[in-house]
Amino acid sequence: MARTMNRSKDERMPRCAHCAEKLRACVDPGGTGPSWCPTLNLADLVDEALEQYGSDAVSALALAASVQEGECYADRTGPEPAPRPVKPRALEICEFAAKLGMKRIGVAFCTGLFEEARIFSRVLESRGFEVVSVACKAGRLPKETIGVRDDQKIRPGCFESMCSPIAQAMILDRFGSELNVLIGLCVGHDSLFFRFSRAPVTVLVAKDRVTGHNPAAALYTAHSYYRNVLSGPEAKPSH
Ligand code: SF4
Repeated sequence: MARTMNRSKDERMPRCAHCAEKLRACVDPGGTGPSWCPTLNLADLVDEALEQYGSDAVSALALAASVQEGECYADRTGPEPAPRPVKPRALEICEFAAKLGMKRIGVAFCTGLFEEARIFSRVLESRGFEVVSVACKAGRLPKETIGVRDDQKIRPGCFESMCSPIAQAMILDRFGSELNVLIGLCVGHDSLFFRFSRAPVTVLVAKDRVTGHNPAAALYTAHSYYRNVLSGPEAKPSH
């Protein structure tokens, strides 16, 4: 439910996605920002957030994540540094977990991506991790359990097992997963998994049924073939 905000707060509501500053305040000490820039306006919240980095668990994650970020580039040093990305996300996740000394990794996957889950489990196992993996349909509860009508199923008239991301999270937790990796959970099912997972969560594959799991493809072509992701006049074909 949308929160009611007064008008002056609305005017300060961050819209970083629309920031057109050449030198941005958030990345350059001499940079600037628009009137709604959170770097310029919300130092109190930035400081409050900083306090959260104080606990051991959070600071270890934060440090490992940022060190890993840097290590995903080659040629960062030398007389003419020219950082270039060299690591796929699957490898990035393995290295991140190793940095934190994690031994057991959870894989929560969609049954539509069994092969991807199998391959990623092999990747982890080849690097010495123990892997506990759970499919989204584990438990085989009918979709009717959560109020889905027959006409709302993928195949009306047939039995359909509901996805239970909460069960996935609980099963992974019971078996001591230290980091949970999502592979292709549906929109919303992933939201529930994030909420119920005790271990930190990262995503290897964001499901997109029509772009080969590359959701950004629809954004890159939103000016042409995927105009239908827009709404209103912008959605109309221009040619
Ligand atoms: S933090 Fe400020 S400068 Fe950075 S992108 Fe957002 S609005 Fe622009």
